This record gives sequence, structure tokens and C-alpha cells, in this order.
Amino acid sequence: MTLQDFAQRIKETGNIVCFTGAGISTESGVPDFRSPGGIWTKYTPVYFSDFINSEEARVRAWSMKREIHELYKDVRPNLGHYFICSLEERGKLLGLITQNIDGLHSLAGLPDEKIVELHGTDRKIICLSCEKSFDPDGVMKHLVGDFKSPRCDECGGLLKSATISFGQAMPAEPMRRAQLLSEEARIFVVFGSSLQVQPAASFPVLAKQNGAFLAIVNREPTPLDEIADFHYTGPIGEFCKQLSPLIADS
Ligand code: NAD
Repeated sequence: MTLQDFAQRIKETGNIVCFTGAGISTESGVPDFRSPGGIWTKYTPVYFSDFINSEEARVRAWSMKREIHELYKDVRPNLGHYFICSLEERGKLLGLITQNIDGLHSLAGLPDEKIVELHGTDRKIICLSCEKSFDPDGVMKHLVGDFKSPRCDECGGLLKSATISFGQAMPAEPMRRAQLLSEEARIFVVFGSSLQVQPAASFPVLAKQNGAFLAIVNREPTPLDEIADFHYTGPIGEFCKQLSPLIADS
């Protein structure tokens, strides 16, 4: 199928669901998970049970979060994030399922009710005991020198970035919403995911099983390319630059 054919399908169809991974944010300067040299490869991931049980593991987790927080100060949404907003503005977007924790879809202006953050968000910190939420700036400014892991000022509980760590249960409500979106999608478009992280990678399969047209946009092959109805192998920004004028009058 050509890009023109895909554009035609978008013009004729509503109920589009987009599914994004770390690859949509690399053009904003946020490294993806698997490419070498990024922040994520510098730190060993901290499992949830270690975070709960070990101060050393918590300090390691917060050191990484502090570095990511600094990075986020300079990053802005890119063409890919704005392309998804343009689908919403045309009334075509049923919803967005994202594995990302960088908050860039919200910064691009996509309404909260359209976004399902499967792996939570780095833009919020929560108390694991009383669920009070904290602004990251206020917490991060205390993480200097030989710091101790931060505690809740209300109940003394452990604070944690509102993301889902390895070994932590997936959040029930986002999982339920992602399942519904996948079942209802007429077109399901994956942007920038290696489709190796489960259960997230099961949603494109579910959409396809429920009759959606499956499109995958990624700069390298993915394990689901063979069931995709359309795939584009290349940078997301370039893809959106080519596709946008083709659907401009829809
Ligand atoms: P991944 O790193 O496993 O895969 C990203 C994919 O995007 C790769 O296949 C890569 O080739 C492709 N890619 C990178 N830049 C691209 C571009 N400009 N155009 C097209 N393709 C591009 O990411 P994943 O599948 O999202 O899984 C990683 C996990 O790590 C997720 O659970 C996510 O929560 C987390 N993570 C999030 C962020 C973020 O929020 N920005 C960053 C890193 C990791």
C-alpha cells in the first residue's frame, strides 16, 4: 500500500487510535529505551520490590529521575506529537495509548481525556502510602549531594515518580481504557515502538483481531510488521511531513 492510499484511508475513516512508544520522542531529544548512549542505558533499572525494600535502590532510582528531570526542562513536542493533535482537531482521533512517561503529548495540547498513559508519568510524584501527589520541581530541588530518598510530608511514606517500574502491577484503569480503545479502533497506528514490551505490545494485536486496519511507523522493523496492513520504515517526523499535506482537506 502506498502512502497516498494510506492517506485516503485516513480521510475516509474515523475512530483512529494512535499508540506511541519512546521513538516518537527521540526527535524532541529524549533518548529511546534501547538505542545505545541514552540515559536509560547508563542506569540499571530498579525493580519495584527493590525500590520498596532498599534505600540504596531508591537513591539509585532518584539519581536517574533527577537526570531525566533536568533533560525534560529543555524538551518540546515535535511533528509527531502535533500530527496526532491534528487528527484530534479533525475529529478523527478516538484516543491515544502511550507507553511514554515524558508528558509530551499533553504539552502538545492533546486533551487529557484522550490520553491513556500505560506506564504512568514522570510529570508527577506520588506518595506510595497516602497517594498525595507532589510537583517534581519541589521534590527534585532537595535531591542534592548525598541525599536520602524523599518522604511524604503528610504521612512519612515513600515518594515515587508516578511511573510503572519493572515488577510493578500495571494500572487497572489505563489498561481497561487501552483495551476498549483497541477494540473500537477502525485504524490503529503505532508510532515509534519496538513492540517488545508486554502487555503494551498486545494492543496492536487486539486491534487487528477486532478488525482494525493496522499501521506501523518505525525506523526499524518490528515483530508485528508481518500482520500490519501498512508499514513505513523511517523517521516519524519525515512520515508526518509527507502525510500531513495528503490529508489536509479531510
Ligand atoms: P523502545 O526504545 O523499545 O523502541 C523505540 C523504537 O522507536 C525503536 O524500535 C526505534 O528504532 C524507534 N525509533 C526511535 N526514534 C525513532 C524515530 N525518530 N522515528 C521512527 N522510529 C524511531 O521503546 P518502547 O517500545 O516505547 O518501549 C520502551 C519502554 O521504555 C516503554 O515502556 C517506555 O515507558 C519507556 N521509555 C519511555 C521514554 C519516554 O517517555 N520518552 C523513553 C525511553 C523509555
